[in-house]
Amino acid sequence: MVEQRIENPRVGGSIPPQATKSCNAQLSWAFCFAAFPTVRSSIHIVDVDRTETWTRYRAGMCDTCVANCCTMPLEVRLPDLVRLGVVDPFEALHEAPKQIAKRLEKAGLIDHFNFKREVFTIARRASGDCHFLDAKTRRCTVYEQRPETCRKHPQVGPRPHHCPYGAKR
Ligand code: SF4
Repeated sequence: MVEQRIENPRVGGSIPPQATKSCNAQLSWAFCFAAFPTVRSSIHIVDVDRTETWTRYRAGMCDTCVANCCTMPLEVRLPDLVRLGVVDPFEALHEAPKQIAKRLEKAGLIDHFNFKREVFTIARRASGDCHFLDAKTRRCTVYEQRPETCRKHPQVGPRPHHCPYGAKR
């Protein structure tokens, strides 16, 4: 049986009901929080755009995550696109990046190309998911060939060693 828990608004976690009962009687909240350790809520609200809501990364977390990191804008470079197999190595060597970007945009593979930085932004679906994310399994369909940015996450990123973890329901 799953124990019912009461949300603890101070820390975004929960405490058991007996804690709140005791607290309501005559004990202070501070005492109750000390007596009944708070459990971090599994429905902790994550906003990928607010890094303060992110969680410190631990090995194995991805196994139970809905892949929120794969809903963030993804910037890649030409070698990434070659590894992904969407640009031919010959084309990468002989075609102007701007022309390649035009073709990829037409094919719906990129949303944007930054001419100055020669950075391509991979297309996202209406849901915000990366073009390469499997919507059902929440797994990357090109994991072995994934771009450099994805390989470095979350060691490198907006908040190093933290990620927008969201537990699967
Ligand atoms: S390429 Fe794969 S790992 Fe990278 S954002 Fe897309 S789905 Fe996620």
